[in-house]
Amino acid sequence: MSELNYKYHFKSLMNSFRDDGFYRTFTPIIRNMDSFPFSKIDHGIVKKYNDNNSESLQIWCTNDYLNMSHNPDVVNEMIKVIRKVGTGSGGTRNISGTTPYHQNLEKIIADFHNKEAGLIFNSAYLANQTVIWTICKSLKDICVFSDSLNHASLIQGIKNSGSECKIFEHNDLSNLKKLLKNEPYDRPKLLVFESLYSMDGTIAPVNEYVELAKKYNALTYLDEVHAVGLYGKNGQGLAEHFNASDDIDIINGTLAKSFGQIGGYIVSDKYLTDYIKSFAPGFIFTTSMMPSVAAAASKSIQIVKKADDKRKYIMEHAQYLKKLLTEKNIPFLNNNSHIIPVMAYKSSKAKQYSKILRDFHNIYVQPIFYPTVAKNKARLRITVTPKHTKKDIQILVQALSKTILSEKIDIPKLPKNSDKVLVA
Ligand code: PLP
Repeated sequence: MSELNYKYHFKSLMNSFRDDGFYRTFTPIIRNMDSFPFSKIDHGIVKKYNDNNSESLQIWCTNDYLNMSHNPDVVNEMIKVIRKVGTGSGGTRNISGTTPYHQNLEKIIADFHNKEAGLIFNSAYLANQTVIWTICKSLKDICVFSDSLNHASLIQGIKNSGSECKIFEHNDLSNLKKLLKNEPYDRPKLLVFESLYSMDGTIAPVNEYVELAKKYNALTYLDEVHAVGLYGKNGQGLAEHFNASDDIDIINGTLAKSFGQIGGYIVSDKYLTDYIKSFAPGFIFTTSMMPSVAAAASKSIQIVKKADDKRKYIMEHAQYLKKLLTEKNIPFLNNNSHIIPVMAYKSSKAKQYSKILRDFHNIYVQPIFYPTVAKNKARLRITVTPKHTKKDIQILVQALSKTILSEKIDIPKLPKNSDKVLVA
């Protein structure tokens, strides 16, 4: 009997992944509170290569959309609670890990979305995965309808449940309608979609989906991870913006992007939330979030609700960036949101652009490629924060223009081994 060489197995898988151009390296960044969006890369080899490069890079790819991770009131709140109750929660929600901070956050979230109940999780990824699984397991013979660009966490929840899943073309109403129509009216159905697609920046036709769901008797699950905090009245999200919030059965959001902390949540009616609370493994069988994180998230939501000026700033500046990209003929996906994907198509190109921006222009934009997006759709995903000025945008576009449109790019010879950190 031949022995399986486990080491070789993973090594050869990774070698071919690397050969295909999809290998990932992670850049260690220090985002100091007083200098964001200027940040530092912490790595000896980079420093040796060129001291300037390690000093001050402007970050253009953060999901800390409102820079709430640096908000002094939020930071103080977190420190205050740590000083009072310590760091870890000490248990699962069921076993001594529920605190008033958790309960308060769930109430704030439910009120924020005008829903009966809210439930928090250690991440929005976990929330999507475990909630969808739990819903599907509770409804025999359920058929799931899922947008082709849905996030990995939604797909994982659906796949794990083993339920039948019909994938409709991205944001394609007629395709979805055709699929829904083919199913018996009384078969349980779950429509899973995002309000704002994280990689393309496209916005779903939320009202039309709600109408279809009603007509064909489907439950609706909406991921608002990239929309909460930035869209709708008080930042309540796109469902609120489209006046459809009451008609969405389950809304999922994150505490990690516009609210600048860590964690995820769902809001829904009290019965469904209660069911998830009792049966979702990803809620029950894991230690609850740190009380200080729950307190900081609560504080952050209260502040973000009042941040209309910042929301307006981001949208206006994103528009300005798109205008400059258009003027320079830089290829990007033109959508109606704050997410701006500048297209490189090939992963090797995206990596090259990112490296040049970093080495020659002190700009940091992470290359995005497979499996985050399709193999031929690699890109730089750019996001504007309230800390980026018009001048910063002009410098960025100038740098992008030089990087992407120059026909021949001279890449300097790097010291031995520097590839390990310099090729992101
Ligand atoms: N849903 C979408 C659409 C996302 O893009 C992400 C992460 O980026 C998540 C869910 C997971 O969010 P979290 O980072 O809170 O786990």
